[in-house]
Amino acid sequence: MVSPYKISVTVRNTLQEARNTLSSNLIEQARLEAELLLAHVLDVKKEDLVIHPNRELTDSQEENFQQLIERRCRKEPLAYIIGHREFWSLPFKVNRKVLIPRPETEGVIEHLLDLAGEEATKKVLSILDVGTGSGILAIVAALEFPRARVIAVDNSNDALEIAQENIHRHQVVEQIETFKMNFMCPWTLSEDDLYDYILSNPPYISSKDFEQLMPDVRDYEPRVALDGGPDGLACYRHIISKAFPYLKPGGCLIFEVGEDQAEAVKRYLQDHGGLDGIAIIQDLSGRDRVVSARRVLG
Ligand code: GLN
Repeated sequence: MVSPYKISVTVRNTLQEARNTLSSNLIEQARLEAELLLAHVLDVKKEDLVIHPNRELTDSQEENFQQLIERRCRKEPLAYIIGHREFWSLPFKVNRKVLIPRPETEGVIEHLLDLAGEEATKKVLSILDVGTGSGILAIVAALEFPRARVIAVDNSNDALEIAQENIHRHQVVEQIETFKMNFMCPWTLSEDDLYDYILSNPPYISSKDFEQLMPDVRDYEPRVALDGGPDGLACYRHIISKAFPYLKPGGCLIFEVGEDQAEAVKRYLQDHGGLDGIAIIQDLSGRDRVVSARRVLG
């Protein structure tokens, strides 16, 4: 029976308590995360919580919220709990079958825009996204280049399902085709199709570093999307050789790379031959983040 003296459970009280619980479980952005989780449970915008601090929660909302706080305390990433994450200021559905989009991956899109130049929005480019996961690179490329045709491949049917949902959500169904393909095996794409841009954020964490990752990442995100083999560089070596015949002369390969991997990837690109204009691009904090190369003309 509900006690008549039950203290009302307001947004303000609930947030304060959740913030303390998250902080004491070493969740860094405790306040923000508490707000995002409560906004999710109440199906409102985060800002609405500030506007209505005295709103009372129903018993089931409170219970639901406490369950989500417990999941977060067990280090399940916030994006998996609420089921989406922003990338390029757009919402993308995610679940444990796909890597959570990271801000650094926006560097791949920024570099693509730089290489393509302003006129490119009017061109019928063809773009390949290798290991698309939730589809972020393929979808943002399609949105930035409305006349482009994009192929997105991944070896996981579960990932392709999420990518498809995101493709529908962002209304780029006409522009993007998805294929199941293991990019570490011989490529099964039509050899008649050549690409202006081949993009990839492959798994690049070395197997040894994988064990040292934060539990949020190590225990929840798909290992297959993170583990790049003993030295973390296996995918780059493989993709460079497989992608090359699919690049148009003058077409570019653009990779996200892990910290300290840019020079090694640059060397692989140089050693392959037939590629020039190799560029290493840094993120805002000066870390090497993106490496690209162009297939020589002729
Ligand atoms: N950026 C991710 C991380 O450091 C790794 C992504 C990847 O392997 N492609 O956790």
